Amino acid sequence: MTDAPLDVLRNVFGFDAFRTLQGEIVDHLLAGGDAVVLMPTGGGKSLCYQLPALCRQGVGIVVSPLIALMRDQVEALRQFGVRAAALNSALAPREAEEVERAILAGAMDLVYVSPERALRPDFLELVSQTEVAILAIDEAHCVSQWGHDFRPEYRQLAALAARFPNVPRVALTATADGPTRRDIVDGLALTDARVFAAGFDRPNIQYRVQVKRDPKAQLKAFLGNGHTGQAGIVYCQSRAKVEGIAAWLHDLGYKALPYHAGLDAEIRMRNQDRFLKEDGVVIVATIAFGMGIDKPDVRFVAHLDLPKSVEAYYQETGRAGRDGLPATAWMTYGMADAVTQRRFISQSESPDSQKRVENQKLDALLGYCETTRCRRQVLLEYFSEAPPEPCGNCDTCLEPIESFDGTEAAQKALSCVYRTGQRFGAAHLIDILRGAESDRITSLGHDQLSTYGIGEEFARTEWRSIFRQLTAMGFLVVDVEGHGGLRLGPDCRPILTGQQNVELRRDPARKRASRKSTKKTEFTLEAPADEALFEALRSHRLTLAQAQGVPPYVIFHDSTLLEMALSRPGDRESFADLSGVGASKLTRYAESFLGVIAAHSA
Ligand code: ADP
Ligand code: ZN
Repeated sequence: MTDAPLDVLRNVFGFDAFRTLQGEIVDHLLAGGDAVVLMPTGGGKSLCYQLPALCRQGVGIVVSPLIALMRDQVEALRQFGVRAAALNSALAPREAEEVERAILAGAMDLVYVSPERALRPDFLELVSQTEVAILAIDEAHCVSQWGHDFRPEYRQLAALAARFPNVPRVALTATADGPTRRDIVDGLALTDARVFAAGFDRPNIQYRVQVKRDPKAQLKAFLGNGHTGQAGIVYCQSRAKVEGIAAWLHDLGYKALPYHAGLDAEIRMRNQDRFLKEDGVVIVATIAFGMGIDKPDVRFVAHLDLPKSVEAYYQETGRAGRDGLPATAWMTYGMADAVTQRRFISQSESPDSQKRVENQKLDALLGYCETTRCRRQVLLEYFSEAPPEPCGNCDTCLEPIESFDGTEAAQKALSCVYRTGQRFGAAHLIDILRGAESDRITSLGHDQLSTYGIGEEFARTEWRSIFRQLTAMGFLVVDVEGHGGLRLGPDCRPILTGQQNVELRRDPARKRASRKSTKKTEFTLEAPADEALFEALRSHRLTLAQAQGVPPYVIFHDSTLLEMALSRPGDRESFADLSGVGASKLTRYAESFLGVIAAHSA
């Protein structure tokens, strides 16, 4: 016996229609097939196994790598009136027994377990006594040794295929490069599964990269430009920097909290919890933060330092805007970042072959930073997706980058590197090009060089930009073993001989404080009255959430509140029409939210 998935989607979750691929995946699983689901963050993977679990007889088993992830999912499901629980080490024995009893009684729709638990004989014995509707393996990339989330126990999950031969299995992930994809299929014994791959674009995320000048001032300006009071993540490279930036933002009046692996576990938990449960918290973190954070209303992700690859950048920025509302991925980047990253790679213990791969990945990221093209196009091409039209929602689309023929400038820079013996850094080289008078220059005899004073047409900042771009393009190489001097890259000969031209970007001049050019990225309500109502609804939601000890977004997403503020439903019937209002939430919340709306509409 099965219920029609569309009915369940509407009645339980209050959503009108399936998103891309969801319907097909659900049908395929309900027909008994296995599936591998590759969808970007926020694409709606969870429903792909939750619906079959609800439509089919028996309990759905979901393997998930982190307790925090399970807790969030379970809480969200309960709000929808779904009978869900997590079985993990954080549970008291008595609570675990209760969950087990419910499973045996057929009174549980979905149970979340760790991979270790899923393989334990007592758990397998338990579920063999009841019917299993579906077996889902979430964050399936954890099976792959290629990624940094590798979990050895995931490898053993393949054994579940033999244990439940007639139960449809689905593996889901947002990480989908070729090697990882193959590992999932092989490692989880899903060779006969159908692969469903959704496009990886995140159209609601606006990408912005700024040249690093004064990173703190730039971050402050970014936050002040429409992000005050919003929840966001600021990534920094080091623990010390995390602490410093968090304290500084706190002094500026932001609800900023630090998060890194060196903090006391209790403090870390508390800060993460506040990020999830309060409105408008900015978490300042190392990359230790993020995995397992399912908060849908993160409005921005800011990078003060360069990530190590496009994959890492995409994963980290992907934590913004899971709810589909506008969000911004913002980064400052400078030459020093590239040098630091190169040095990390060079000094690591990895074999040379891996260092080569890591250097290539870094090159790709630098290429992204320096591009004059639409950033989304560059990102999607990197993931081998057909390039879309210029997106109109990244900085290079919104404020087109001026480029110029930089061949002559490049020739001057490269020959200056060559004439000085390929061991000086950009600052000194720029001094020579601009004909600076200093003791250092004279004592080295660099005022006698043919390149001395031949570059006065560019200001220092412009030369810095030229050197940075030539390095990003690989025409110059930073000597990371020594003092960071520059030497010629292998491919620069055609430029010196004039056989190849170089297009360079003209870095936008420092912007004045007030300007109208940037499109506002937060969702704005046109009328002040709607805005006021939206705020009132948010504050009501927060009160309800705090009373239950749950994150506000499990009660209603911002998108539902937004719709509420705009359509102002006057009765239960129209309240039920809102996206995200199913039967359970209608019963629980319609009355009190209708009260808030009525009070504001009088
Ligand atoms: P993922 O796991 O792929 O990152 P989720 O499953 O958490 O994404 O879904 C992201 C958000 O989109 C969730 O808050 C979910 O409620 C919402 N969502 C998913 N499917 C639909 C749909 N068909 N209609 C409306 N909202 C949806
Ligand atoms: Zn674009």
